[in-house]
Amino acid sequence: MEVDYQDHVGVLLSITDINKKDILYYKDSPEFDFFDEIFQVYMKELNGYGVFGIDSYYFYFKKDSSIEAYASKYKSCYIISLSEGLVKDLISKFSLYFSINTFPSLCEFFYLDKIFDDLGKSLYNVVLNYICQHEIAHLIQFNNDGNDRIKREAIKNSTDFDIKKHIHEFDADFFACIKTGNYLFRLVKKIGLSNFQDRDIINFLSLSLSSIFLFFHSFINPNQGFYLRRKSHPHPVFRIGYTIDITAFYFNLELKEFNREIDVAKVLELTFYASEILLQRISSESTFDDFLSLYNENILEISDYMIELRNLCSIYDESSVSKRNELIKQKTNT
Ligand SMILES: [Zn+2]
Repeated sequence: MEVDYQDHVGVLLSITDINKKDILYYKDSPEFDFFDEIFQVYMKELNGYGVFGIDSYYFYFKKDSSIEAYASKYKSCYIISLSEGLVKDLISKFSLYFSINTFPSLCEFFYLDKIFDDLGKSLYNVVLNYICQHEIAHLIQFNNDGNDRIKREAIKNSTDFDIKKHIHEFDADFFACIKTGNYLFRLVKKIGLSNFQDRDIINFLSLSLSSIFLFFHSFINPNQGFYLRRKSHPHPVFRIGYTIDITAFYFNLELKEFNREIDVAKVLELTFYASEILLQRISSESTFDDFLSLYNENILEISDYMIELRNLCSIYDESSVSKRNELIKQKTNT
């Protein structure tokens, strides 16, 4: 059943200290269909997280032109908000003005446009799903201990470093990767696995993941160089590397249940290729070469730090990934 955004926000305002002027009311917006679709889809999605204690949940858009996303807990309410700027940025990059057929260098992907109906919208959905699942992971991290909590993605203006913050972010990314892998697999399965050769699956996965690549890439500042243990969020180059790897790994895990398997290294290679071509059109302050040099120069440190964060996550008692795994274990034991 569809939820009325105005009514929903009205309840939220009555039980929290959120300021009404910070809320975006999209009723008369030219992007009404986009905003309302996101609202309905993620209200429905949040409905499935009661098993994690997320019973009272809210979703709203913040009247803010910057690119931001938030997860917060106020009393016993779990709240996700996306900025107006973030949604409009995704619409313009992927949905409204994107047509794969206008990228001649990507001609080997053209046929996917027919299979997936509207590839631009499909890429938009993939990156949106990744962002929202990352925020849902933060909600899962928030214990039901009565404390109010807030996570601001602070995508452009990352705040001070704390290893705990990097663990929270890595864990939320990891959770989003698993969910994105599952999501992409469902899309392929819906059309029918038998319709796809391995090569088609790799193409689809790589092109889809290039949307997440482009999202993180837009936050690379070539003048600031690379870092590991700095700022509140891990470096975008670092996040790009493990996001593609982990998502493809979890996609593959589902595929293996059907006795098939794809080469994950090939997905990484092809995602880089597609992203480089798309980046030439989708404006960004930095180039693909900026990414590649930072990635290649720091590949060993990236790998070591990823292992370190993974190990720290496994002993982090609020880990969304551990809570998910525990739930699956309980289900298979009953
Ligand atoms: Zn986060």
